[in-house]
Amino acid sequence: MCGKPAAGTFLSLYKEHKRCAPEIANSCLFSAQPERFIYNLASRTLLSPEPMPAVILDGNKFASEIRAEVATAVRQLAATGVRTGLAVVLAGHNPASEIYVRGKVKTSEQLGIKSEKHTPPENISTEKLLQLIADLNRRDEIDGILVQLPLPPQVDAKKVLRAVDPAKDVDGFHPMNVGLLSTQQPGLVPCTPAGIMEILKRSGIPIAGQEAVVVGRSDIVGKPTAMLLLNANATVTVCHSKTRDLPAVCRRADILIAAIGRAGLITRQYVKPGATVIDVGMNQVTDRAQFERLFAGNAKREETFRAKGSTLVGDVHPEVVEIAGAITPVPGGVGPMTIAMLMSNTVRAAKLRRGRERELSRA
Ligand code: NAP
Repeated sequence: MCGKPAAGTFLSLYKEHKRCAPEIANSCLFSAQPERFIYNLASRTLLSPEPMPAVILDGNKFASEIRAEVATAVRQLAATGVRTGLAVVLAGHNPASEIYVRGKVKTSEQLGIKSEKHTPPENISTEKLLQLIADLNRRDEIDGILVQLPLPPQVDAKKVLRAVDPAKDVDGFHPMNVGLLSTQQPGLVPCTPAGIMEILKRSGIPIAGQEAVVVGRSDIVGKPTAMLLLNANATVTVCHSKTRDLPAVCRRADILIAAIGRAGLITRQYVKPGATVIDVGMNQVTDRAQFERLFAGNAKREETFRAKGSTLVGDVHPEVVEIAGAITPVPGGVGPMTIAMLMSNTVRAAKLRRGRERELSRA
């Protein structure tokens, strides 16, 4: 029997307390407002019939923890004479890619990883790029190779990605690493999906036995995330643009991953009350009408939108915070985890290449 106030979704309250407080549990279950309640089990009164906002899963905090762990691992490797090295290849001039690469190089230097940037010209041929990759593959002091996408249109991107030594493929895109992931063998896992799993694990959110729904089936986010969740014993459904009745499928989810690229598509009718919602989307909203649909009445966002003419939004509508149990914000959720996991993968590659898998913290 419990005798202290508890907080949770109406369903979890019902399940948890139906034996000791059946009448209230039933009234919660059949309530027209299936929101979060605080119920004092001692006095058998509902303390708060108001919806409680979701727990915010702070990606900045987790990313900073991971960076600290990576810095320690880099120092330990250095003490054994190994200087961890990362090579970043940025072909041509894509302003967004230049910003991402600057962030990656800066972070690696902060953590003691020796990084080098290769910037072949916009008109580079596939052959020349393959030569550069072969050279980086050969050099022992390079542990990780990252080819920033998109590549210029004349380059055969798939061929270039396949040419990266799988042992140095810190993006985890090589078919060999895709196969290792699907057969649950140690390898390099794509950074954003690995970051999503770290958010779930570090937040203590149970995965085994849970219903997980992943919206999006891209090779870089949706599919590897689904595979990681499956490997962690979730029951996984993958959705895409042809999925019938997407809201109904999403409402089955205890863990809902939105990796779609459509601003605020996931509204409250897609979400089971109390579900964990991971918002991978990064969409720039520039249209006033769309801004109003998403952020009407949000003074802080209004200020940003007025000043910059745009604001960053995920695939999940901000209203979902009122119904989810836990949610990642945008910005500050999955985004910061991606670079942190790239750093983690680089150290992982350095250890894997030297047969020091047993030191690895991630399986
Ligand atoms: P993508 O390659 O364009 O894939 C999008 C997926 O969403 C596809 O599988 C597509 O289905 C599906 N989809 C599109 N519209 C849909 C709809 N109306 N209903 C259901 N499914 C729909 O995108 P991505 O590279 O996976 O990226 C997804 C989002 O994550 C983007 O906003 C991207 O910017 C963001 N992202 C963020 C990070 C980060 O670090 N935070 C990293 C990578 C990506 P089909 O397969 O049927 O076309």
